[in-house]
Amino acid sequence: MNPQNILNADLHCHSVVSDGTMTPEALAERAKINGVELWALTDHDEIGGQHRAAAAARAQGMAYLTGTEISVTFAGETVHIVGLGFDPDNEALKQGLYNTRNGREQRAREMSDSLAKVGIHGAFEGALKFVGNPELISRTHFARHLVESGICKETNEVFRKYLTEGKPGYVPHRWATLKDAVTWITQAQGIAVIAHPGRYNFSANAEYALFTEFKEHGGRGVEVVTGSHTKQEFIKYAETAKEFGLGASRGSDFHSPDESHTDLGTLPFLPGDLTPVWELVAGRIQA
Ligand code: AMP
Ligand code: MN
Ligand code: MN
Ligand code: MN
Repeated sequence: MNPQNILNADLHCHSVVSDGTMTPEALAERAKINGVELWALTDHDEIGGQHRAAAAARAQGMAYLTGTEISVTFAGETVHIVGLGFDPDNEALKQGLYNTRNGREQRAREMSDSLAKVGIHGAFEGALKFVGNPELISRTHFARHLVESGICKETNEVFRKYLTEGKPGYVPHRWATLKDAVTWITQAQGIAVIAHPGRYNFSANAEYALFTEFKEHGGRGVEVVTGSHTKQEFIKYAETAKEFGLGASRGSDFHSPDESHTDLGTLPFLPGDLTPVWELVAGRIQA
């Protein structure tokens, strides 16, 4: 057993800078209380919270890695790529993320138009009330609005009935390419990690292609222990990590105390025979 594997690292969560409900400072405090020893804030397509998160971690006496979660379109599906340990002031990374965020407002207006056709009016304005960053309006903000207005009981139900493929509020969107996302992160001295692979609806062949191309572009890790994996998926993706020679990551994907079933720092440790991603970016950890 590598002693590094029993580190309470939580390298995936969201703040008000994307679709979480807590500030970077409040998340840092919650992580510390929950025993997190190494933390990363990974807002969607956005690194505007990184300096605040790093300062908050330092104030809590908690080690920090910079983070983000980039939306990618691969083989017609949305895939999320987590970046860790990059330079948050890197211009090419900042520009790439800006471009990735750019279509979100238009997409949100189309989602709202499409919800109006099934009798749900004013969803764009409603969702905006939950948005903390005007450049980052997401499906989560629509979900919160539909719950608040009593149309659904909880956000999961909104996704199931309205916001997923084939449902009335779903608008397909073209995100960054896999190659661009991995390259932006890597050129900024970070490492790229495939987020929650168990969540994608890929065939075995398409999943193999994802991991193969990800490696070819310079990707280094995969989330094995995440809030959205079952125990069976911990085992499955531990095998995939070894098969592809990838480092393993651990992260709750915490968004909100009211919505997230996995709290910061509460997941099982990484299996002992994997290389943790924090060994691959050891030099980039802010103590
Ligand atoms: P977007 O980037 O606007 O497509 O929104 C994606 C976000 O929606 C994810 O990061 C999750 O936070 C949230 N999400 C996706 N699917 C679900 C679901 N079934 N239940 C709750 N939240 C979800
Ligand atoms: Mn999210
Ligand atoms: Mn994700
Ligand atoms: Mn996430």
